[in-house]
Amino acid sequence: MCAFAAIIPAVTAPASTSDLAERIDALLPQTQCTKCGFAGCRPYADAIASGAAEINQCPPGGQAGIVKLAALMARTPLPLNPANGVERPLTMAVIDEALCIGCTLCIQACPVDAIVGAAKRMHTVLPENCTGCDLCVAPCPMDCIAMVLLRPALPWTQADADAARARFEARRLRLAHEARERDERLEAMAIAKLAEITVRDDLSVREADQKKAAVQAAIERARARRLQTGTLAALPRRTEEDEGAGLAAACPPRASGTEQA
Ligand code: SF4
Ligand code: SF4
Ligand code: SF4
Repeated sequence: MCAFAAIIPAVTAPASTSDLAERIDALLPQTQCTKCGFAGCRPYADAIASGAAEINQCPPGGQAGIVKLAALMARTPLPLNPANGVERPLTMAVIDEALCIGCTLCIQACPVDAIVGAAKRMHTVLPENCTGCDLCVAPCPMDCIAMVLLRPALPWTQADADAARARFEARRLRLAHEARERDERLEAMAIAKLAEITVRDDLSVREADQKKAAVQAAIERARARRLQTGTLAALPRRTEEDEGAGLAAACPPRASGTEQA
């Protein structure tokens, strides 16, 4: 008989697909590594809740995570799908700072803001924030990021998952704010341009109308981009306190030592 044959009863019946997805997400490790085949833990949770994904696609959660998901879903636990990867000890990214050219591609790839550095300056990983997701390795043009095993090995705890989720959410909000502020700047520049065209006396009426139409179209595009996402349109203005809020998410230190993975 298969070792995973027993069906574990559901803890309680979730009220809706959204509630179920919330509860599934709470069981996922929040590394946001995308190894499940989805853009992050919450999209995978949504897919499980809607029946579009199996419960055995998360390597960081491993077999213990699958058993928890099976219990919640009243399903039979399955072995981890090898197509999604293998269960392995916790690793951490380390940058060979002598080789780093400061291209910032790793910062852009990191879902939890665990890398610091500026353009053309050396970059470094904040060990306490790194989830070991690997996502920074592939984009590095200098091949100077290595994933190393933690020594001694440490478990990925619920506190680690909570901190990773907080960092991921803070980053998502920061990027949304930046996109909105960029669109607002572009729109303000376009409106100023429109006013400038209106008072120019070196343009024929036809030329002025053509330029105004082009600028007006750019303004409409910027407005449409902002309105495309309801959440973005509803974002409150950033304050100086907000700027530091993302980095304030606590994460217990884990990296007592490392070894090449
Ligand atoms: S930890 Fe990675 S594989 Fe697991 S659900 Fe989150 S994104 Fe998917
Ligand atoms: S530093 Fe690299 S491995 Fe660590 S969380 Fe960021 S992207 Fe993932
Ligand atoms: S991707 Fe590589 S080279 Fe570019 S900043 Fe990061 S570590 Fe440095």
